Amino acid sequence: MTENATSRSPDYESTIQKDAKYVMQNYGRYNIVLSSGSGSVVRDVDGREYIDCVAGIAVNNIGHCHPKQVAAIKEQAEKLIHVSNLYYTVPQAELAEQLVKITGMSRVFFCNSGTEAVEAAMKLARVTTGKTDFVAAEHSFHGRTMGSLSVTYKEVYRNPFKPLVQEEMFVPFNDPSAIADAITRNTAAVIIEPIQGEGGINVPSDKYLQEVRSICDDTGTLLIFDEVQTGFGRTGKWFCKDHSGVKPDIMTMAKAMGAGFPMGAIAAREGISFERGQHAATFGGSPLACAAALASIEVIREEGLIDRSKRMGAYFIDRLRNMSLEGVVDVRGRGLMIGVELDRKCGDIVESCMQKGVLLNCTSEKVLRIAPPLIITKEQIDAVVDVLEQA
Ligand SMILES: *Cc1c(COP(=O)(O)O)cnc(C)c1O
Repeated sequence: MTENATSRSPDYESTIQKDAKYVMQNYGRYNIVLSSGSGSVVRDVDGREYIDCVAGIAVNNIGHCHPKQVAAIKEQAEKLIHVSNLYYTVPQAELAEQLVKITGMSRVFFCNSGTEAVEAAMKLARVTTGKTDFVAAEHSFHGRTMGSLSVTYKEVYRNPFKPLVQEEMFVPFNDPSAIADAITRNTAAVIIEPIQGEGGINVPSDKYLQEVRSICDDTGTLLIFDEVQTGFGRTGKWFCKDHSGVKPDIMTMAKAMGAGFPMGAIAAREGISFERGQHAATFGGSPLACAAALASIEVIREEGLIDRSKRMGAYFIDRLRNMSLEGVVDVRGRGLMIGVELDRKCGDIVESCMQKGVLLNCTSEKVLRIAPPLIITKEQIDAVVDVLEQA
């Protein structure tokens, strides 16, 4: 950063030093220390503001610290934070009802993160079919625990941790015949992101998802959609599956579910469900988490954020396609899940935008990922494009 070190809050140096000393160094972090946020803006400890096009990686869909969600969390925290799943709670039952409504599925299971949702989906697929194997797509990302890591494509993530649940089951994305060829007698499920997130915002054709559905039907294979990144309005529908009309057998959700409060779930269609004792999570569906998610769903409805995601996404993509930035290979996405593919690694651009007050991130090395809160304004989008043009 260009700023003189004396302009820094004491929190800046000490936080970075403590991290270096006490936190496992598994993250490559940018040198800012964030301390507050509202709407589509976050602020660092030195008072600098940033338009947040990362949004916790497609998490803060209703913006930072939305007053409705803050109030709901406060109110629930004063009543009951956690009890065991040995007992019923009102928020969990209410959230389950809401999720069944917005997913069109039959029942849900609650957990706390994306990878846990994928683990649950894999276990449910195995226990439902009595089969062991999975087919996944090249450039997929499904998480970092042993099961979800097994169906995650990147070798640098997988190789140090072998043996995994299954080796090598990856087929080219957006190619239905590759899936048909890969399914065997032992295949429990095909797992697909309806738009690949970490893999570079890869948008398949609706027809692909429809054909995968019919291949799964013909072969008696379950279809899992990993909607961890694409859910809760991100792509301009409640869930990305709704663009294609394809109904999976099991779907995962997390990221934006609690709008920042850690939370995940799977939903399954009629006839597919865990039975007593087959799975559990201590914190899954805690009253506090469910209150946070209920508030978020209410805000998405009340503020028309699904439609807004579609409109602002179209505006953003249009502005990006017409901006003057060298080396843009492709601009793609749906709703406010947008990728700008460059002909070079995007690390320098991300750094330069950060210094000019815009947070972006880079995925798949050459793809700038743009996933702001769904409440982002046209003025903020214009400001982001201006910064990109100067970068
Ligand atoms: C982020 C992500 C996950 C993993 O979620 P975590 O909460 O980080 O475990 C799984 N699947 C997809 C599609 C994701 O984008």
